This record gives sequence, structure tokens and C-alpha cells, in this order.
Amino acid sequence: MRREQNSGRGRSSAMHVGKLMARLNVKNVRFDVGSGGIPELTPQDVAAALGYVEDGIGREMLCQVWWPDGAKLTERHLLEILAEAQRLEWQRREDAMLNAMLAVAAHGNKAQMLYAKAHGDRWPRMAWMEQGIPVPAQGYTRVRRAVIDEMKGAGLCSGCNGRAYRSNDTGALCLCPLCLGSGHRPISERSRAEACGVSWMGYRKGWDRVYEWTMALCTESMRRASQQFHDGLGTVRVPN
Ligand SMILES: [Zn+2]
Repeated sequence: MRREQNSGRGRSSAMHVGKLMARLNVKNVRFDVGSGGIPELTPQDVAAALGYVEDGIGREMLCQVWWPDGAKLTERHLLEILAEAQRLEWQRREDAMLNAMLAVAAHGNKAQMLYAKAHGDRWPRMAWMEQGIPVPAQGYTRVRRAVIDEMKGAGLCSGCNGRAYRSNDTGALCLCPLCLGSGHRPISERSRAEACGVSWMGYRKGWDRVYEWTMALCTESMRRASQQFHDGLGTVRVPN
């Protein structure tokens, strides 16, 4: 059951997805008291709406960030699918690098720009050989964990209160300019380097690109999942 076409509907009147999903946490059953919005929604409605969110990074992130009780079982799965996404992106960048090298070989200086771009986009090695045995780079695992922690721990954006969208001067909904749709307050590059366990210099040698890409993937996936969740709510609770 996927409803990706009408994902923009109902967003303006919808409560924040986090407040709704908090109803699934036993500890937070009173969270909705006096919160306005759609007070008649039950945890069962919220759980049913979650069923309308397609499987993948966005759904897992929604659970990780807003439903810790339900997310305990899914963290490993989330880390696995993020690892696979990173591996595919690493491969794409290496392919671009190889193509650029071949282009330089064939066309000389005319392909230098392509080469410079591909080289600048390259990610750190995923593994290297140590006494004949491949050793995986720990950085990718650290980035995955740090991104999840950042999305779970960072405070809500003051511009949109975590909604990712806000009204502009004409009343139209637009992507929040402060958080660019993440719903969270951005944290500093240095804090990110620290969270990844690398020096600032080391972070700037390519781990920043890995971090930003992984963050963007999680943010965009979660935004889409939130839209599907709200669409699901509209289906679960059709007005009489
Ligand atoms: Zn915002």
C-alpha cells in the first residue's frame, strides 16, 4: 500500500509527526493531553498510519527518532541499509573517477575539469589490505552512528518547530530556510568530526563529504516518510 502521489496534502493542518508517534511510547501515553490538533487519534491510529510508510531508511529513521520503544529492534536493520547505501554511493564515485581518468587518457586537457570534479568528490577508502587481509575503514560505521545520533539528539529547529515546513509571507507553505527541511537545529562541523572520532583535519579530508551525503539521505528519506505517514493518517481517519 503505497501512496506517494498526493504526499503534499494535509500537511498544513497536521500535527508534528513526532508528537503523534510519541503516542506509541508507553511511557508517553499522556503526551497528547491538551496538545490540540487531532485529539481523538489513538495509538492504534498512529500505528496504522505508520503502515502506510514504505519500508526503507525513512521509516526506520522515523522509528529511531520518534518511537524509541519500537525502534530497539530496527537499529541494526537501519545500520545495514545505510551501509549498503554508502557502499553503492562509494562505488558510483569510484566509477566516476575511473571514467574521468579514461577521458583524460583519451582527450587530454579537455577532460581535466571532469577529472578534477571526480577527484574532489571521491570518498575515503572503504577498506585496505593489512598483511594480505582486507580491513574495513571504521569511519563509515562511525558516520552512520553519528548521523543517527545527530538526528535523534539535536533539538528541534526554532524556525519550523520540527515541522520542516513553514508559512511564508503570503501564507504558502515552503521548506524551512533555517534547517532546510531536516526539522532539527544543525550542529557544527567540529562536533560532527568529534562524533566520528576523527581529528578536524582528518574530517576535512573526505569524511565531511561522507557525513553530509549520509545526513542528506537520512533527512530526505525521513521527510518523505513523514509525508507518507500524514497521508496514511488521512486514510485511517477519514472524516465523517
Ligand atoms: Zn526548520
